[in-house]
Amino acid sequence: MSEFHHNSVDFEQLKRMRQWLHAHPELSRQEAETAAYMQAQLKEHAPPDEIISLAGAGFAAVYNGSASGNTVLARTELDALPIHETNNDLAYRSLYDGVAHKCGHDGHMTIIAGLAQIYARQRPARGRIVLLFQPDEETGTGARTCCEHPNFKKIAPDYAFALHNFPGFPKDEILCRSGVFTSAVRYMAIKLSGKEAHSAMPETGASPALAIAEIAQASARIQQSFDTPDERALVVPVRFDMGVPSSGVAPGYGEAHFTLRSPRNEVVDRMWSEFATASEEIASKYRLRIEFEEIEIFSATVNDADAVAMIEDAARLNGLAYTELEAPFRAGEDFGEITRRYKGAMFGLGSGENIPELHNPDYDFPDEIIPSGIAMFKALVDQALEEAS
Ligand SMILES: [Zn+2]
Repeated sequence: MSEFHHNSVDFEQLKRMRQWLHAHPELSRQEAETAAYMQAQLKEHAPPDEIISLAGAGFAAVYNGSASGNTVLARTELDALPIHETNNDLAYRSLYDGVAHKCGHDGHMTIIAGLAQIYARQRPARGRIVLLFQPDEETGTGARTCCEHPNFKKIAPDYAFALHNFPGFPKDEILCRSGVFTSAVRYMAIKLSGKEAHSAMPETGASPALAIAEIAQASARIQQSFDTPDERALVVPVRFDMGVPSSGVAPGYGEAHFTLRSPRNEVVDRMWSEFATASEEIASKYRLRIEFEEIEIFSATVNDADAVAMIEDAARLNGLAYTELEAPFRAGEDFGEITRRYKGAMFGLGSGENIPELHNPDYDFPDEIIPSGIAMFKALVDQALEEAS
């Protein structure tokens, strides 16, 4: 493990912050307490030159250098997940039933707060650092709504970086690749309306049951036709809903929800277009009205090659193991909305082997990797600011 020490960083305070955040998780679109806490912590331990309000609970803390230069953005997410924490032995376990930091965003916020301490005490010679505290990552909407917010024009970064912790990899190991880093994901609801009937006379109604069954089979067929070693496509049923618990009522309405993923946005679009057409044909066969709802959409996060070279340098500079990933992660990440618009890259930070996975109910971000996270961002920011703008 890298021994990262920095006189400006108070690691004990950061650990207390991480544990407070863990105990006070908030869902996407509800991160008001988290944002207020982070702003208060920054004002006390790392006063910024400016706080810029963005979409929802999102905001950016700005640290200006004395001369003009590049703007470098480092991003963290604010939200937790609708998962009930099962680590009952944790002194700082979630205080809110059914909500918990199971993606490690509590750790990401703490890393960015540690980075803030460095630049609050020693402003850069030139350029400026923008720390983005982004809401609504888990719903795939926060990065986009922040980028589209009028105040984001004041930010317009030359470089943008983000990290995600990754269980299953040794602590402090840096994981990255050029090109696609996280996959494109689309979460769709298919809604089928027919007519309820007495279950003794189902022919007088129109039930979605068999249509849902056929649509599920169509999803598997479409996945098969797209899933090659290059595409790694997935179409996964995540929810079926139909009927009431009554022996006498045949349902007249049903929903089937699916997630579609691939490293490429256009492949997800093509898969969905085929799947939608197949679903429409099935619905009409069963005399059902069909509607589609796009619930969540994540663009693929595409890493810029120069930014990836900087990440590799930053790892080497800090004596951290660097692994180039062969394939993109299959999870979605809304940082893709930022790499779509600005030069940048996302990297992984190993959070330990043989520990629970992200989104498991017993996951807990390991505080030991906070120093290497801060060290990585510090090296990245310094490289990006040194570059002539
Ligand atoms: Zn996450």
